[in-house]
Amino acid sequence: MSQATDPATLEQILAAAADAAGTTAAATPAQRAGWLNAAADALDAAADELIALANRETHLPASPRLQGELKRTTFQLRLFGEVLADGEFLGATVDHADAAWPMGPRPDIRRLLTPIGPVLVFAASNFPFAFSVAGGDTASALAAGCPVVLKAHSGHPELSARTGEILRDALVKAGAPEGIFAVVHGQQNGVTALKDPRIQAASFTGSVPGGRALFDIATSRPSPIPFYGELGSVNPVVVTRAAIDARGEAIAKGYAGSFTLGAGQFCTKPGLLFLPEGHGLEDTLREAVAAVPAQPMLNERIAAGFADGLAKLSEVAGVEVLSESGGTEGISHGATLLATTAKAFLADADTVREECFGPASLIVTYADQDELISLLGVMEPGLTATIQGEESDVDWIRPVLPSLTRVAGRLLWNDWPTGVTVTWAQEHGGPYPATTAPTSTSVGTAAIERFLRPIAWQGFPDELLPEPLQENNPWDLPRRTDGKRQ
Ligand code: NAP
Repeated sequence: MSQATDPATLEQILAAAADAAGTTAAATPAQRAGWLNAAADALDAAADELIALANRETHLPASPRLQGELKRTTFQLRLFGEVLADGEFLGATVDHADAAWPMGPRPDIRRLLTPIGPVLVFAASNFPFAFSVAGGDTASALAAGCPVVLKAHSGHPELSARTGEILRDALVKAGAPEGIFAVVHGQQNGVTALKDPRIQAASFTGSVPGGRALFDIATSRPSPIPFYGELGSVNPVVVTRAAIDARGEAIAKGYAGSFTLGAGQFCTKPGLLFLPEGHGLEDTLREAVAAVPAQPMLNERIAAGFADGLAKLSEVAGVEVLSESGGTEGISHGATLLATTAKAFLADADTVREECFGPASLIVTYADQDELISLLGVMEPGLTATIQGEESDVDWIRPVLPSLTRVAGRLLWNDWPTGVTVTWAQEHGGPYPATTAPTSTSVGTAAIERFLRPIAWQGFPDELLPEPLQENNPWDLPRRTDGKRQ
């Protein structure tokens, strides 16, 4: 099952996706919502089988983790059904001809977002459901009206194949064209598909080296395509002195819980904690971390990457181990909490600001607001930045905010970054290396925008216009007409 897809099958899959593109794009939003709902129902019905497979291949616990993740995955498919029913995602905009337009007379011009074409999705290893075969990238591309070719992650091949079968069968049974969805296996096949001119966009969740290599391929094709890569993130957390005084113990425990959750294998794991000097939380942190059992990591590649990253971090001058738990055996690792000073951090910023994917995190102490701002100033952008503060901190924190908005796509106040809800307002992105496309999100309903391309229709007779742009608004869409929302 983990064997690479053979070249003839890969060619059939790419040809079928290209053939299906027109029909998929022409389906109405209501039809596509029906396909997504059918897919969600089929995956829910197969939950026991899929969760058992995922547990075997990824070592993630069935309950509550994999159960919760599958629930999130099918919720996500259904939520995109609501996006389709709402219609605002199409961005339908009508400007009637206007002889008195201030810059000179304008023609009738109408703009609509249109499916981009077949999308190649590289599944993630660390969310075998929610960021894998039937995950957010697939859901948003299908909702946008694009066929999907899914490059399975080598960490869970059987689960990928089975999820792909169930998803494809449900979509086709609900009326989608045959080539709407297929899974391919093998690293080289991912590259071959990415270079194929029939693929019009790609998305990815994984490592910086892997994502960067694929981004470079996507953008150096003879016909370059958008590549939505979600790569690495350190996710700094800033704790104020007032928050330490008010609830230091709870913060220490919350932090230890967040960075060790799921063996630290979340792209939103808090990898850096900025504490005020003299915080006095050492003992509580030591105890909280010492109580974390060793947990098996997803696979050997990730366990080896974690061991290397941790060794590199531990060797930095001025970085010390504050607490360790559980030991290491095979692919199982305990938690490690490291600590350093602002001076040591600034002296080797390149190493200490790198993501160490797994159950490790680094505490950095700061003397005052100026020092905190200079520490944040050397951070690379990531997905999130968190503040643990009190109401009395508002004036102290305000000047720090620009340093945080520079480095993150999502800012949190008195919460932990692990746990990414799927909603209309969610943003899961950020400037490079968080992503290769900082204007987009891979989670939440806005993820659909990645797979839509705007087309303006100038001067067309009504009957040749796409229905969403016709004069009598037959789909009853929310539209902007002559500059006014309707
Ligand atoms: P990965 O090694 O980047 O692999 C992700 C996908 O890209 C897989 O399908 C892989 O194919 C493919 N790939 C990787 N390098 C490639 C290359 N040079 N050319 C073509 N295809 C390539 O990521 P991973 O296995 O999930 O995890 C490894 C590391 O990624 C972790 O230790 C962690 O640092 C990071 N990670 C980050 C996130 C995040 O959300 N930020 C999530 C997961 C992992 P094969 O599977 O077939 O090899």
